[in-house]
Amino acid sequence: MPSRPPKLNAKPRQAKPCNWSRRASRQARGYGREHERIRAELLRDEPLCRECAKAGRVNAAVIADHIVALALGGSGDRSNYQPLCRACSDAKTARESATARRRR
Ligand SMILES: [Zn+2]
Repeated sequence: MPSRPPKLNAKPRQAKPCNWSRRASRQARGYGREHERIRAELLRDEPLCRECAKAGRVNAAVIADHIVALALGGSGDRSNYQPLCRACSDAKTARESATARRRR
């Protein structure tokens, strides 16, 4: 008897879930609807990256950054937000991750 033809509907093997799935939801981490509202307001009112402006550069902000990261006890108030470009945000996140690791 010939071997069975491959199943047409065979599902591909599920990839192992990555770490992201173990993170709390966006809402639980403080990035819910309120965050979206503040982000939109902030980028409208201050469309340029604040860090770049301090350094005399002009870059469009795309990130509403928590000045004090939520993970480090920062608040979700608008006063704790600043507009950043991607590069400045990434650099800040890297610094904060290093701080968080030292605290552990
Ligand atoms: Zn910047």
